[in-house]
Order: sequence, then structure tokens, then C-alpha cells
Amino acid sequence: MSAPRPIKTRLFTPGPVEVPPRVLRALSQPPPHHRTEGFRATLLAVTEKLRALHGTAGEVWLLPASGTGAMEAAVSNLMSPERRALAIGGGKFGERWAGLLEAWGVPHQTLEVEWGASVDPAAVEAALEQGGPFDTVFATHSETSTGALHDIQAIARITRARGVRLVVDAITSLAIHPLPQDEWGVDVVVCGSQKGLMIPPGIATLSLAPWAASAIDQAALPRYYFDLRKARKSLAGGETAFTPPVSLVLALAESLAMIEEEGLVAVHERHGALSRATRAGATALGFTAFAARPSHAVTALRPPAGIEAGAVVKRLRERHGMILAGGQDRLKGVILRAGHMGAYDLADIQALVGALGECARALGGPAPVRDPVLAASEAWDRA
Ligand SMILES: *Cc1c(COP(=O)(O)O)cnc(C)c1O
Repeated sequence: MSAPRPIKTRLFTPGPVEVPPRVLRALSQPPPHHRTEGFRATLLAVTEKLRALHGTAGEVWLLPASGTGAMEAAVSNLMSPERRALAIGGGKFGERWAGLLEAWGVPHQTLEVEWGASVDPAAVEAALEQGGPFDTVFATHSETSTGALHDIQAIARITRARGVRLVVDAITSLAIHPLPQDEWGVDVVVCGSQKGLMIPPGIATLSLAPWAASAIDQAALPRYYFDLRKARKSLAGGETAFTPPVSLVLALAESLAMIEEEGLVAVHERHGALSRATRAGATALGFTAFAARPSHAVTALRPPAGIEAGAVVKRLRERHGMILAGGQDRLKGVILRAGHMGAYDLADIQALVGALGECARALGGPAPVRDPVLAASEAWDRA
């Protein structure tokens, strides 16, 4: 007789993430028409809440796209063929900035960073000094492919001191790590809906700091659908330039209300606890954290010697109904990644590390150093 099969699917993916029941209910409403008083009020209220989340007194726009759409909008609305850019690498998403700059014909240089490491701010400073002049730096806050967090505050200090613009991919850091845009001096922040914002994919957000307002008028690349000048004009009347994903906007209103009710500081602290608990549980089983400075959005783990990362991902899925991600590109088969962005708590992590323990044992891993569930619980409590 074979073991019973799991009947639930639990997402521990680094996006899309679990959508909370409250948000699912909001999604089930009949789609409103977007050119109505009611929807205009909702859009403006959501925009206000996003402004607070992005930490800016500037402008925030919703774009109908996955996160990459906002990344592309940042490039096409800020850059010109004669403005040089510096893209910070270090993973698949850092490389995406370079790919976008390449596609848009923007002259650029990439600052290579070892995968799993966080960029040394001194290296950013040196690149700006030696390879310049640069107009704009494109950086990633939480590098989802390696689980590394980059020190945006330190990078912003450097760019601000030199009058260089800074654009940050905060797709797996907003509502997870503090990123006060105006206070730190970040010109543009982009985010997506299916990570810390806890709704399905389809909305990207882009915020422009107050001092950078004229940047989108000065850019010289062609734009049409993602023309932020059009978005600006429409939002003044409570509308979007094109038909917005209305149901997702209703879902976002709900998830932003959840974040507000819990409190943004509490949300950040909970993600810190999720990250600590996951690492503690996994470490107790002989796994090691891949990133030197781990993001609280996703925990990248190297399995103990003799266990292949893909085999762990497969067993977690088949036996436990838990969906995690493997490594991408050069990290394929090297790491596995557990996402814990959004509505996750200690019980989720206890279940995850318990299942991870079962997998490690079944795949011939070493004896646990200690009980992973207990290790996770203790780390969760440690503020
Ligand atoms: C998910 C993600 C993106 C965007 O990916 P999409 O598939 O376009 O939503 C960009 N950057 C980071 C760091 C991400 O995690």
C-alpha cells in the first residue's frame, strides 16, 4: 500500500505567493466599470496607500503588467540613448536590468557581483568614479534568485552625493523590508503584485520621488503603453490611461488594508521572524543559507553534502504538497528557495521545516543536529 497523497497545495514559492481568503473574496466581486465615480475613488485610495508603502510624497502609478513591466517603464521613461547607466548584477534580476538597458539601446556597464553576495557599496562608489560619468544606477533590493539583500540605503547615499539617479527593483522587498524612498533618496522604486502585496500577478507599481518629477519629461526613448506622462495626466482625473485590471485593483485595496491593519513595522518584523525561523530550522537539518546577507522574502538553501537540491524540491512537492523553487541558471541543482512573502506565520514554517526534515532523511542526509521545528520556533521568538 502506498502512502496517502497530499490534498492541499502550499505555496512556498518566491512568487506568486498564497493569496489570503480576504483577498480572494475581494477578487470575486463583479468587476466594476473603470470610468465610474466608485472606481475612481478606489483607484485614488489605493494610490494613496501605495504612496505610503513606497515611502514617498511623490507620484505612484499602477501599471497593468507583471513586475518586469514596471522595470521596463523605468528604463523607457527615464533614459535616453546618450545617458549612461550602471546596472548592478549579482543574480537573475540584477541581470534583467542589464537586459532591459540592452534592449532599449541605453549605453550601460554592469557591475558584476558574485551570486549570493550583496554588492559592496564601496564597489558601487568605485564603479561610479572609474567608469563614469553615469546618469543612473539600476539596483535590486532583494535578489530573489539568490536570496541576497542589497544595502540600498548605503548605495543611495553614494548616488545622492554624486547627483546620480537611483532606480530600485523592490519587487520582493516592499512590504517585507523597510525602503523609505524619499528618506533614503531613491529616485524610482518598482514593485509587483504577486509577492509581498499578496494578490495574483498582473499589477506593477512604479513610484517617482518628488525631486525626480521632471525626469519622465526629459527622457528621449519612445513610449506608448507605458508612457508615464499619460499615466500622470489620467491619474489627475482619478483614472488610468488604459483599461486597468479592475478586479486586481479591488484585490490590492484589500491586501493594502491588511498591511495597514497589521501595521507596516509589524509586517516587516514578521518577515524577519519568518526568515530567521526558516534558516534556523533548515540549519538544524544540515542545510546552509546561501546568501551572506539574507533577504526576508526568500530563503535560499544549499542542501547537505550528497543531496541534490532538485530532489528535495521534488519530494516536498510530491509527498508534502509544498511547492518551492529550485535554483535558476548557474544555481540550478545547487540551491532550493523557500519563499515566505505575505500571509505566512510560524505554523507555516514549522510545517515546512518538518517536511524538509523528512525529505533530508529520506534522501540520505545527515542526522539532524536538533529538532528543526523547535529550532524554528525559538528563532521566531528571538526578536
Ligand atoms: C518576481 C521578480 C521580478 C519580476 O518578475 P515578473 O515575473 O515580471 O513579475 C523582478 N525582480 C525581482 C527581484 C523579482 O523577484
